[in-house]
Amino acid sequence: MRGLMQSWPLTVPSVIDHAARWHGEREMVTRTVEGAIHRTNYAELHERARKLAQALRRLGVGKGQVVGTLAWNTHRHFEAWYAIMGAGGVCHTLNPRLFAEQLVYIINHAEDRIILLDTSFVAILESIQTQLPNVAAYVLLTDRAHMPDTTLSNTLCYEELIAAEDGNCDWTPVDEDDACGLCYTSGTTGNPKGVVYSHRSNVIHGLAVNCADGIGARSVDNVLPIVPMFHANAWGLVFAGPMAGCKLVMPGARLDGENVCELLTGERVSVTAAVPTVWMMLLQYLEKTGATLPHLKRVIIGGSAVPRVMLEKFERDYGVEVVHAWGMTELSPVGTLASFKSGMENLSFDERMDIKVKQGRPIYSVEMKVTDDAGVDLPHDGKAFGHLLVRGPAIAGAYLKGEGGQILDEEGWFDTGDVATIDELGFMQITDRAKDVIKSGGEWISSIEIENLAVGHPQVQEAAVIGVAHPKWDERPLLIVVLAPGTTPTREEILAYLEGKIAKWWMPDDVAFVAEIPHTATGKIQKLTLRKQFETYKLPTA
Ligand code: AMP
Repeated sequence: MRGLMQSWPLTVPSVIDHAARWHGEREMVTRTVEGAIHRTNYAELHERARKLAQALRRLGVGKGQVVGTLAWNTHRHFEAWYAIMGAGGVCHTLNPRLFAEQLVYIINHAEDRIILLDTSFVAILESIQTQLPNVAAYVLLTDRAHMPDTTLSNTLCYEELIAAEDGNCDWTPVDEDDACGLCYTSGTTGNPKGVVYSHRSNVIHGLAVNCADGIGARSVDNVLPIVPMFHANAWGLVFAGPMAGCKLVMPGARLDGENVCELLTGERVSVTAAVPTVWMMLLQYLEKTGATLPHLKRVIIGGSAVPRVMLEKFERDYGVEVVHAWGMTELSPVGTLASFKSGMENLSFDERMDIKVKQGRPIYSVEMKVTDDAGVDLPHDGKAFGHLLVRGPAIAGAYLKGEGGQILDEEGWFDTGDVATIDELGFMQITDRAKDVIKSGGEWISSIEIENLAVGHPQVQEAAVIGVAHPKWDERPLLIVVLAPGTTPTREEILAYLEGKIAKWWMPDDVAFVAEIPHTATGKIQKLTLRKQFETYKLPTA
């Protein structure tokens, strides 16, 4: 027997339709690229997205056409997403932190026809425009008064495009499985690969990620997505926010501690999300100024592992609940979130932190397992670590144009490239990227765990652990640290801090002090570069 419910395609425009109809007055606040604070609401955003969809159609955007965006989190970028997807197009988010040659590669590979960009990124595209033969027009996300002098050809003014339309149009009819979004993986080895989201996968992920044990944003919440729209879909908040009808606060270009603190307090933000480096800047600012977080209830942290010291500061010093999240571009992007289960209410502070440093439990729509090298499932005992595999309706089944070939095994599992444990209660913990794991005498050492402990040392600002060649053990860990300004702890002091916190054989064989640790365009430690830099490093134990 078939179900007799209405067949209602899960499409992205239905999200903004819902927000405009039922939460039309709810605000969106933006710190604009021009500097001023801008206020609008879902009703206005809806109308302007429709006008932009009309304008984009006039520029030739139709079903399946790829339109690039190179922009900060702002109301205009939000409108552009809904307009592109609503016109049947595919919104390709470009990461401004990529090298110019990577941008050239992905813009051409994706066949972007039009690029919408913030004025702050004009110089980047000017320098590569001769290598972008398919791009027919550049739309500057600003008004006439702020249009910059530029050598970009075929530039259009965003506000003029919108002003010329009446908004009297329907969204382009699409199938829920049609493509609507595109984001390239970072590609630390080889070329970046395109992850193609569908209307259906975006809607499912938006619903799943905002469950009560997930991001948990309600209509009464004021939500600040600092995690950028240009990478990993702002963790789904651009869909989940309007679904829930919450106020969205868009931070624009200024993500330093002072500006973030001002938005958190000024806009009474209750829920926010960003990678650890953003929170490091905020916590440093709070410590320096004595400012507090009177309205903030929950902070979602992911993209890299949350150091325990950060978790404890938020929870103990500022009374803010931390939810640790893990995901990747291929997962739309969120896979797990660490929130408590029944029975954990009476745990001590330390026991609760032990749970929260883990990356958490899968949200509905994500299936997950860990396997050994032979593909055999490992037990959920919190100890056995192996390859982390996932499958689900908002998880990539292939990359754009078949790059990378077949990416699923015969049972449909996708290998995340991460190494993890899963404990008895289903909490997953990442120990490493598979290619970063340190193999010492045939056993694996988790670089992430040592890094997270090391940054708990008050004089360590940032830490990275890599494997360095060793004649007896194959590889041994080297701890690389950036010290807090004005401090000079010795190698012995730092190693003594780790003693007793990790197994003896995990203890780094040496400590190297550096001025800076290299990062990828998505803010992760660039281990490949570090390994090259320390290729010939001689460990004292060698
Ligand atoms: P990306 O696709 O650029 O978002 O990168 C995804 C990768 O980031 C994952 O495969 C993990 O290696 C890493 N990652 C994301 N979140 C976390 C987390 N909470 N802890 C540790 N690693 C993480």
